[in-house]
Amino acid sequence: MSRIAFVNGKYISHATAYVHVEDRGYQFADGVYEVSAVWKGKIIDENLHFQRLKRSLQELSISMPMPINALKIISREIIRRNRITDGILYLQISRGVAPREHEFPKQSDQSVVMTARPIDWPEDLKSTGEEVITVDDIRWKRRDIKSISLLPNILAKQKAAAVNAYESWLIDEEGLITEGSSSNAWIVDDQNRIITRDLSENILGGVTRLTLIRLASENGLEVIERPFSISEAKNASEAFLTSTTSFIKGVRSIDGKTIRNGAVGPITAKLHKLYIQHCQTFETN
Ligand code: PMP
Repeated sequence: MSRIAFVNGKYISHATAYVHVEDRGYQFADGVYEVSAVWKGKIIDENLHFQRLKRSLQELSISMPMPINALKIISREIIRRNRITDGILYLQISRGVAPREHEFPKQSDQSVVMTARPIDWPEDLKSTGEEVITVDDIRWKRRDIKSISLLPNILAKQKAAAVNAYESWLIDEEGLITEGSSSNAWIVDDQNRIITRDLSENILGGVTRLTLIRLASENGLEVIERPFSISEAKNASEAFLTSTTSFIKGVRSIDGKTIRNGAVGPITAKLHKLYIQHCQTFETN
């Protein structure tokens, strides 16, 4: 079956789905994106993804190209045409095509691209966890915007890949962990308190993070939103990371320092279970 992409109003073959060479997304990374998980045909936390998309666009003064309901209809159609049951939905909106000048063009129609691909979601938590390394956070100061400008994130992820680690945790000037290159970072202290960095312009407000904080508090687990240092993380009872595509993954070591003898801890396992239940029972509206 050939893949189908949505590009600027048309459903076309993925193999020939292109945007213009003067698209500002291509030339300036002047655009934003969202990645959502499709679970048994449902777009998990769909409204939260669209709310974040709307906010990212607003922060960059890019108008919504169409109402959210229209984007929802296209999402469903892309999922249907690609026959996705479990998969990843990608949406990108750029400021559009215009002669290459730094300032915003007086007029441009936003470019809207959507793709989807199948993936098998791992319902079981890997009991051994993942390796994480730390690298300097060299990103810009508006990490709360889900911008397609991801070069520092890519470099950080590549550093992890080069040493067969799963993720890089990014360190700010004060030695505090901001987040992962494509995930949020969490630790658990010796009193079972769950700690993740507070929302600000320093991190992306992960949808998985938001949902997990809600699920944790609804289930009597304490979550503290505050920064934590590398050494606090290395000495934590548990460490884990979250993202739309990783769900919840235990961290077995940070820079080679083993956490909890390398075994995924009970709080991480509990949160993973709650998150899977959330996906199983999620209703789209
Ligand atoms: N931080 C960064 C830098 C990311 O790229 C991502 C994944 N998009 C996340 C956090 C996690 O966000 P979400 O849970 O919405 O996927």
